[in-house]
Amino acid sequence: MNSSSSTTRNLLNFSGGPGALAESVLQQVKASIESVPGIGLSILGISHRSKWFTDLVLDTEERIRSLLSLSKDYHVLFLQGGATQQFSTVAMAFSHLSKHPAEYLDTGYWSSKSIEGANQGLAQSELQRSNLDLKVTWSGRETGYSKLPSNSELELSAHAPYFHYVSNETVEGLQFKEIVGLDSVPRICDMSSDFLSAPIDANRFSLIYAHAQKNLGPAGVTVVVIKDELLKLVRPGIPAFLDYRTHAQAHSNFNTPPVFAIYVVNLITKWLMQEVGGLAEMQEINLEKAQCLYDLIDHSENFYKSTVSKANRSTMNVTFRLPSPELEQAFIIKSESMGFSGLGGHRSVGGIRASLYNGVTLNAVRELTQFMSDFRANI
Ligand SMILES: *Cc1c(COP(=O)(O)O)cnc(C)c1O
Repeated sequence: MNSSSSTTRNLLNFSGGPGALAESVLQQVKASIESVPGIGLSILGISHRSKWFTDLVLDTEERIRSLLSLSKDYHVLFLQGGATQQFSTVAMAFSHLSKHPAEYLDTGYWSSKSIEGANQGLAQSELQRSNLDLKVTWSGRETGYSKLPSNSELELSAHAPYFHYVSNETVEGLQFKEIVGLDSVPRICDMSSDFLSAPIDANRFSLIYAHAQKNLGPAGVTVVVIKDELLKLVRPGIPAFLDYRTHAQAHSNFNTPPVFAIYVVNLITKWLMQEVGGLAEMQEINLEKAQCLYDLIDHSENFYKSTVSKANRSTMNVTFRLPSPELEQAFIIKSESMGFSGLGGHRSVGGIRASLYNGVTLNAVRELTQFMSDFRANI
């Protein structure tokens, strides 16, 4: 392998997002810029009203449905605005469902953003009277977002209009290993950074959202999985573009959708089904990758130090520190000179973060652990 070639450098991409995508998919994407097989047009210039594209959307919906074993009463939508738009849309659409506040977990950087966004959504829709403010039922802020609550320690209301949490805290490297919340309250989850990385009991969620750029494709499209029962309850009067019903009725072709991004998501779902073999197989690979890196960290005599509680360590984002900020800086510079990319921690926390999304190979993780042993040995 020639580590100076750009392809190889892409193979060693541990970016927090947009993340690395499978090489075989990138090859197809590359060809499609010139001409989509069987169509003869560039993917960048195919009408969203063409039969080819409307069929592609239906096929992608079906593939996500099948990967998640969704029951028939779910809609799969492809929206714009990223996860960030969902933060406020969710609050605008569903806070009116009860006189009690919606309940939120504050488990890290992204859930605190989801709370901020929800508050803006409430203010916008004039729902932010005291009884409709949202409620943060658990917060890890004071403990530096180093652990997650277990379901049994949460005190949740059965009267909340909905319950919201983030399944994988991308910045801190924390991941829930169980589904939390009450089954009697609509469960809404931001799965942006671990969607389709492992099997989940998706039918226990009323709404799941995940933008594409970590596990599923390029930035520009956000997948929303919504139960029909909840879809019917969207607050009347919400702008059409923010109304999930608009996009459900139009099969995500209300206005011009991000054709290219949806095409890549389609290729990724095919890759997951046909090349990887499904989500159970994807999970096995992801667990092995994470294990490989955490083992090295745990056996480094505290040279590399994980910052989060062991029980909640993420399989997607492995965060760790070195003994000093200077060593961290040296680590990042050296890693880049060796062809690695994206290892700097999120700008809000610093340190090191290796993101092991679906597209990152086990071999790449092995190269990283080798680099980390060598770095430590040569200090
Ligand atoms: C990256 C990330 C976001 C930000 O999403 P945008 O698409 O940039 O709005 C939100 N939530 C989680 C969990 C993330 O990892």
